[in-house]
Amino acid sequence: MEFKKLGKSNVQIPVLGLGTWGIGGFGSRYLGGDEDAVRALRIGFQLGMSLVDTAEMYAHGHSEEVVAMAVGKEREKVFIATKVSAENLSYEHVLLSCEASLKRLKTNYVDLYQVHWPNPRIPIGETMKAMEKLIADGKVREIGVSNFSVKQTREAQESLSKARIASNQVEYSLVERAIEEDLLPYCSRESVTLIAYSPVARGNIPSGGRDERWRTLDSIARRYGKTRAQVALNWLISKEPVVAIPKAINLEHVRENAEAAGWRLSKEDQDALSEAFN
Ligand code: NAP
Repeated sequence: MEFKKLGKSNVQIPVLGLGTWGIGGFGSRYLGGDEDAVRALRIGFQLGMSLVDTAEMYAHGHSEEVVAMAVGKEREKVFIATKVSAENLSYEHVLLSCEASLKRLKTNYVDLYQVHWPNPRIPIGETMKAMEKLIADGKVREIGVSNFSVKQTREAQESLSKARIASNQVEYSLVERAIEEDLLPYCSRESVTLIAYSPVARGNIPSGGRDERWRTLDSIARRYGKTRAQVALNWLISKEPVVAIPKAINLEHVRENAEAAGWRLSKEDQDALSEAFN
């Protein structure tokens, strides 16, 4: 696995982590149950994808419980990122939410605590004050945001007294490129790690169409002896501040995704993909 620095911290995180949306719940989308999810996460950890991303809202907290089962006694080897929901961003609620997440995650600290979505009804300064209290109390190591614009990320940073915003988790893939306009350059400039969610477009990239852009992807994949998903993930992590968190419960998908790192598309091929999917 390859690693990148998280924000301006001294922490190194793998360029590929494990998403967990849908793990711990959602009926037919969760046919295998907790055992299959635990197995998939453990295999992901063994293959070097030792960053796991969850949230208090995923499966009403059960996703965090499944993460705890998968981590077991290997807490120090896994980087756990979770999120506080937009409705819980008042000072008191951030503290309560974090406490509840720690209990479900069976740990006494979260590596990265992220604000899941901005909430214009609660001043960001109040949320960040609670975040800094959690850092001071040793319950949180690094602070992140998610779905924040450049302006919102800047405001969050400006309202912190000491800590830095380490990351912003946003949707980013070959087929969803909106953040390239301003957020990606901002994160690059300010050394904020950009955590790309839905990096294989919820399965639509591996199973995508056959028109010209997909033919470009297929022909590049063939040349490298890689799959569509591997090329799409490699294209993401080749960008300096970007790491990606594909979710996969199917073990073949987990193995395939882990092999999206450790090699590099040429600059020419990265550009050809950017152009084809523009
Ligand atoms: P995703 O990772 O792009 O796609 C997941 C889907 O793609 C699953 O159905 C998975 O199938 C399939 N898949 C994964 N790897 C594959 C491969 N190599 N070949 C074929 N199919 C593959 O989408 P996502 O779950 O929306 O995003 C990833 C994570 O980002 C989430 O789980 C969550 O942790 C986070 N997220 C955050 C936010 C936010 O607001 N911050 C929003 C959305 C997501 P199987 O599961 O059957 O293997």
